[in-house]
Amino acid sequence: MNNQPDILVLGLGPAGACAATACAKAGFNVMAIEKKAIAGAPVQCAEFVPAMIGSEVAALNETSIQAIRSMVTFVEDQPPDFMANFPGRMIDREGFDRELGEQAKAAGAELHYGLKAQNISDTGTLTLSNGNQILPRILIGADGPNSLAGNAIGSVISDYLETRQISVPLLQAFDNTDIFLSQHITGGYAWAFPKAGVVNIGLGVHPQARSHMKTLLDELHQKLIAEGRVGSQILGHTGGRIPASGMVKPWGVIGSTLCLLAGDAAGLTNPITGAGINSAVISGKLAGDAAVHYLSNDNNITAADNYQEDLEDLFGASLARAVAHRQRLATYWHQDNTPSPEQLRGGWIAYDQYWQNQNTISIKENPCPA
Ligand SMILES: Cc1cc2nc3c(=O)[nH]c(=O)nc-3n(C[C@H](O)[C@H](O)[C@H](O)COP(=O)(O)OP(=O)(O)OC[C@H]3O[C@@H](n4cnc5c(N)ncnc54)[C@H](O)[C@@H]3O)c2cc1C
Repeated sequence: MNNQPDILVLGLGPAGACAATACAKAGFNVMAIEKKAIAGAPVQCAEFVPAMIGSEVAALNETSIQAIRSMVTFVEDQPPDFMANFPGRMIDREGFDRELGEQAKAAGAELHYGLKAQNISDTGTLTLSNGNQILPRILIGADGPNSLAGNAIGSVISDYLETRQISVPLLQAFDNTDIFLSQHITGGYAWAFPKAGVVNIGLGVHPQARSHMKTLLDELHQKLIAEGRVGSQILGHTGGRIPASGMVKPWGVIGSTLCLLAGDAAGLTNPITGAGINSAVISGKLAGDAAVHYLSNDNNITAADNYQEDLEDLFGASLARAVAHRQRLATYWHQDNTPSPEQLRGGWIAYDQYWQNQNTISIKENPCPA
């Protein structure tokens, strides 16, 4: 193991794998470490990817399981609202992460699974779970919502959605994402996403409502069983944190090491929908490109500034909108615990109100603190 690689990528989810590929393709010495022993396993994802990324990400085509065409939103017990045009796909997320890792390896990156970074010193040295100490010229923090790299540069995610999900047998085929909004699902929503013979049923809530997740999920499962849509057997459980405070400053310097953050570590997951695969793939590639520019231009810090600017251009407005909606919705729950169905609709992407009320909600120009 090279203890002084040009670039150390921390985490081999979509962001890390795409960053490692970009750096290795440019000829730099890239080491990537991932604490999971098997790429992408266990899966912590509902596995839906909107049609925004597609043919340019080969791994997506190779791991697609089912097409999604529309979205159906259930608000309380009212008749559902149908959004005809909401294309995307359900993927095999474990296979997706594995494929992206294979691409990084093929590009020349040195991948280590089953190896965890335990500490980052204030000189930029990482101590790994095998006892090795690594001092990279660049650290790419793609280590997810509880990022060690983010902590090391003071870019910390301050708000989360807590999630819980089960996979159950599918009994009636459908090709939409089902969304459930309710005053009882505090600060979030529930979902049922079909994946060939399986349905991923889950929910994300404000951390303070975490203790209600099991009951709420059981209730949704029972409702779908009663409707004859899914089976009672539970095939798998998962969960995890989703960043919900918006983008953090995506770079900093530790000793003489430049640290760039990508994906969930940079807070790029949408705080309303919880979607983060797309932004992880894009930001991972951009972080890799920024690392290449930095090292190719005498450690010129402009590369990091430009990276931040690119992320703000691409994701800033949609993240700021989602954060503003999340804050507005939180006030309803805070006040009387009863957001009305219309208030719930106003905070969900399927409804015009979500996109139209720019003037009535405060949207920060720049969500990223300086
Ligand atoms: C239940 C749930 C459902 C979701 N559903 C969807 C969905 O349907 N569609 C969607 O677009 N998004 C979804 N998301 C969000 C999406 O999964 C993330 O946004 C996406 O995985 C971010 O990719 P990433 O590479 O930034 O981080 P991750 O995929 O989290 O990868 C980070 C990697 O870093 C590793 N790591 C962390 N710390 C260390 C360390 N110290 N040392 C070594 N390795 C480390 C982790 O093991 C992990 O593999 C969901 C999230 C959850 C929790």
